[in-house]
Amino acid sequence: KNLHKEGEKLITTHCSYCGMQCGMHIRVSEKTGKVLGVEPRYDWPVTNGKLCPKGVTAYQQIDHKDRIKRPLIKRNTTFVESSWDEALDLIADKFSELQKKYGKDTLSVFGGVSMTNEKCYLVGKYARAALGTRFIDYNGRFCMSSAAGGFLSTFGIDRGSTLPWTELEHSDCFLIAGSNTAECHPTSIQWFWKARDKGAKMIVVDPRETPTARIADVHLDLKPGTDSALANGLLHLLIKEDYVDERYVMERCNNYKELKASVDPFTPVVTSEITGVSEEKIIQAAHMYGKSPRSVVMFARGVEQQSKGVDNVTLYTALALVRGQVGNFASGVATFTGQGNGQGGREHGQKSDLLPGYRKLTDPDAVKYISKVWGIEPEEMPKPGVSAFEMFDEIQAGNIRAMHVICSNPAVSAPNTEYVWDSFKKLDFLVVNDFFLSETAEFADVVLPAASWAEDEGTTTNLEGRVIHIRKVSEPLYESKPDWVILSEIAKRMGKGKHFPYENSREIFEELRLAAKGGNADYYGITYDRIDQEDGVFWPCPSEDHPGTPTMFKETFSTLDGKANLPAVTWEKAGEIPSEEFPHILTTGRVVFHYLSGNQTRRINFLMEQCPLPYAEIHPELASQYNVQNGETIKLTTPRNTMDLEVKLTKAIRKDTIFVPYHWGKKLAVNQLTNPCLDPISRMPEFKVCAVKMEKLKRG
Ligand code: SF4
Repeated sequence: KNLHKEGEKLITTHCSYCGMQCGMHIRVSEKTGKVLGVEPRYDWPVTNGKLCPKGVTAYQQIDHKDRIKRPLIKRNTTFVESSWDEALDLIADKFSELQKKYGKDTLSVFGGVSMTNEKCYLVGKYARAALGTRFIDYNGRFCMSSAAGGFLSTFGIDRGSTLPWTELEHSDCFLIAGSNTAECHPTSIQWFWKARDKGAKMIVVDPRETPTARIADVHLDLKPGTDSALANGLLHLLIKEDYVDERYVMERCNNYKELKASVDPFTPVVTSEITGVSEEKIIQAAHMYGKSPRSVVMFARGVEQQSKGVDNVTLYTALALVRGQVGNFASGVATFTGQGNGQGGREHGQKSDLLPGYRKLTDPDAVKYISKVWGIEPEEMPKPGVSAFEMFDEIQAGNIRAMHVICSNPAVSAPNTEYVWDSFKKLDFLVVNDFFLSETAEFADVVLPAASWAEDEGTTTNLEGRVIHIRKVSEPLYESKPDWVILSEIAKRMGKGKHFPYENSREIFEELRLAAKGGNADYYGITYDRIDQEDGVFWPCPSEDHPGTPTMFKETFSTLDGKANLPAVTWEKAGEIPSEEFPHILTTGRVVFHYLSGNQTRRINFLMEQCPLPYAEIHPELASQYNVQNGETIKLTTPRNTMDLEVKLTKAIRKDTIFVPYHWGKKLAVNQLTNPCLDPISRMPEFKVCAVKMEKLKRG
């Protein structure tokens, strides 16, 4: 249990990767301050000492040989090390020159959510108050934006979990859709096992028989892109079989009549025809879920990363509402947040249309309030911009000529990556902050060495909505600086230094609290001291004597009339469906050994030994049509691009679907193939469904 030795101190913090934000101690030499290893944190209530392979090795990033040590400036085609002053002056000069020539909005900022709340908050402020551009968005658009859109329209507020996860062990049914929980959020599995030991049931919706689906009571192996049909079909049965909590629905929900009418056509026969799931399994799942007094509907990117992602979210959420279970103990709705601060990172103003506290940029009172907090005139506040992928369209149109990418790697994580690469080449000037040279950074004119997650203090908000404390484990290594210092330095050089007077992250958090006060994501009552004393504090927390809100919507929802809005949406086909030329479906996802674009995990030897390259998972029956054997190479082609991949034969996938993990860059990036068709509300690209053809590669 205790791995640390004499002469070592333990610094309590959280894993840098996914939204579980597992509690851990980092072992540090008392003498040299060097990071030596990790020790599980058994008293962290959400994860109880559990860590996955990524968490166990996360500390190896800190003093990794690939760290960017000094600022880099590209001269001709080669990066040359420079001083901070030279790099920052160059950025400020170039930004000013471009703005003078082409206007304020020629600059753009692409943020990320693997950063603390303080940094996410500052990225939004930097774009609007220092650069004065309307073009700011972030990589959460590729991650949680459909969940956010769905929750806002249903509940009036976007918190990814309506209950604390420590209650999950008391639930008696889990309906998990589009989440390979066992691989993507492995340390959460303990809660499902605890509940299953007490008899809880598990229904998993996934085109693949993932390790999560394998332990389910019912596996609904739907065709990618048919979630809305399946959820409508389940709602149809819940209504028909009398599982609806009529009183709850009448008192607490709007739109039930419309929902009832819109699910009516989705009989088991129709649902089965669309989804490819047998009628028997659909009926079995509906009864299992309908009979459970404490169910939790849980979902992730599988249902969200679709051009109908928001519809999918609202329909799955409706399952919990019609059962009258949102706001109750051990029941409700929860999402598996992909990125470490996927929840907090979307609340503080990185979105193109939102200000801190989830305030709308189109609301004059919100603009007035935030302008006052920032010390600018309301007229200076830029208007809403466009979503992450649409910023590349703006580059192609010549409207954006410079971009500052912070803690993100869209050269790998955006769909149709070749278009993104071409956009980067078209820019006059690209700046990237990172601590490893990402594929995006390779396109940059200036790369700024950011301090790693362990070299600064701050807060994140885990997948429950619990605000937690990330502690500083070591001083920034080499010449790296925390992102908030870098942004403040550029702001100073752009003549906006008075708005960025911070000495440390705590000062930024104090301003963030104020900016969030009274907003849709209210952090005002949360302090660093409270977080330490209370094992984190759940927002909304409007005052320091407020206990925080582990369970949402106990009595009322956050909509104007206090009622949840049920959806009435039918199923529509994915943006691209199989055709004669592209007869199969391509879907993408994660593996346990890698995180997002892989810029961090591809540098960890142990993780690379387990999973060094992407591959194509194919059912043996599909492979036999092409006379392809396990381990052979195939060519996959979509209307956008083509790539070669090694075949992994498995019966754990639908016969019409091919799965490829997405953690690699350049010619190994499966996002060369994916479809940038966007959800009309969330502007989420359709990573999970596109049409593909396969060919066997001839040897030699
Ligand atoms: Fe926990 Fe996620 Fe880190 Fe794994 S990657 S240790 S599950 S926070």
